[in-house]
Amino acid sequence: MRRDIEGRANGEAPEARQRAVRRDAAVRAAVEQRLIGPDAAVVGLLDVTGIRESAAALRAAFDTAVPPGTPVLHAFAVKAAPLVPVLRLLCEADLGAEAASPGELALARAAGVPAERTVLDAPAKTPAELREALALGIAVNADNPQELDRLDTLVHAAPTRSPLGIRVNPQLGGGSIRTTSTATATSKFGVGLRDEGAREWVVRAFLERPWLTRLHAHTGSQGIPLPLLGRGVAETYALAQEINARAGRQQVDTLDIGGGLPVDFTAEATAPTYAQYVRVLRQEVPGLFEGRYGLVTEFGRSLMARHGTVLARVEYAKSAGGRRIAVTHAGVQVATRTVFAPEAWPLRIAAYDAEGRPKRGPEVVQDVAGPACFSGDLLAEGRVLPELAQGDHAAALDTGAYCFAHHYAYNSLVRPGIYGFAPDGSGGVAFATVREPQTLAEVVAESGGAHADALTTLRAPGSR
Ligand SMILES: *Cc1c(COP(=O)(O)O)cnc(C)c1O
Repeated sequence: MRRDIEGRANGEAPEARQRAVRRDAAVRAAVEQRLIGPDAAVVGLLDVTGIRESAAALRAAFDTAVPPGTPVLHAFAVKAAPLVPVLRLLCEADLGAEAASPGELALARAAGVPAERTVLDAPAKTPAELREALALGIAVNADNPQELDRLDTLVHAAPTRSPLGIRVNPQLGGGSIRTTSTATATSKFGVGLRDEGAREWVVRAFLERPWLTRLHAHTGSQGIPLPLLGRGVAETYALAQEINARAGRQQVDTLDIGGGLPVDFTAEATAPTYAQYVRVLRQEVPGLFEGRYGLVTEFGRSLMARHGTVLARVEYAKSAGGRRIAVTHAGVQVATRTVFAPEAWPLRIAAYDAEGRPKRGPEVVQDVAGPACFSGDLLAEGRVLPELAQGDHAAALDTGAYCFAHHYAYNSLVRPGIYGFAPDGSGGVAFATVREPQTLAEVVAESGGAHADALTTLRAPGSR
């Protein structure tokens, strides 16, 4: 059984099996309906049913753990899938948005996410961004003492509805991927609690500012084991308890525990689940669920990764020096992390034939390459798959987060179209455009097309 590469194996959980069945149907329909074809060599597909299921699973996991009436906000980390229709879909499922830049905040607002369901967490917020957030009533977590100074000024200048807090770093150490570990001793995020005097500084900051009501920690993204995530939350909870004890009141009323639930990119089944994470939290931090604290979460990858598929045509199948290579239209532009750091970010590949049916037949070792002009542009190396032939399709699975919505414009490759899919009510698949494919005219325009003469006509004053 090769579920690690094919994603269609028997013996999966029903939820995972159904997801694979939906995906196969969507690939077939995408070919039939010509979303992919002569005019589009690569597309991104989003499983609307699956996204709704994940949002519901997240809500259920926490709702069953807290006393009724406890405020719980699940603020989707916009950076995982910065697409307005996705944010609207999640908002309709009662989630909010965690934004970390003016662009992400604009997307959340365009999607109609209400201010009271929005959190701003950026590490480099300007005074103007902070002012806007406070004017809108968006929750802000100050990253460092200098940012808290700015909040002081703003809070004294005008009243705000924004819940305000401080981001802390429990400095518990990293996970298996350095670049997504945020709780290392020297992480760039938040106030490092184990630095000399820092914990006391945070406590005093609260005691001196009755308007600070939240603590925030995000222990990392992907590669952080559940127990480490749990300890990050436990440290934050203990600090809140200390602040409240010294304040003599429930000054910290909300804990923002961040996101970071990892996704297993080598198998179809969802593990760990939100329910498993909540069980770990109940063990490690029982007080979290006693109703004394409102909760904010900021999951990104675990909500979306499973529900995206990059589907690309195999343009050529060739061999070189005994190496078999399927040259496809999906590479570094849609799976940037995988191409540059394949060990940390493996992707499962599924093979489909020219009509979009799961490819059967003898499996062979092959590389799945992208269209970009550098040798390392590979989605997968030495993968055992049914032999991909010219005109077939290769699908990169679990690419719904931090992948095809994060176009990398190498070689001026166009941003592919993204389409959501759902059952059409009569046994087929319906698609909706989430993002139009970029046109060549747009590539030219975004590459200085309106300024073609800018450099040839530039002259120093007085020269000819
Ligand atoms: C990236 C990020 C998240 C989301 O992390 P996931 O691993 O996608 O769940 C949440 N909070 C903050 C502050 C982040 O930087």
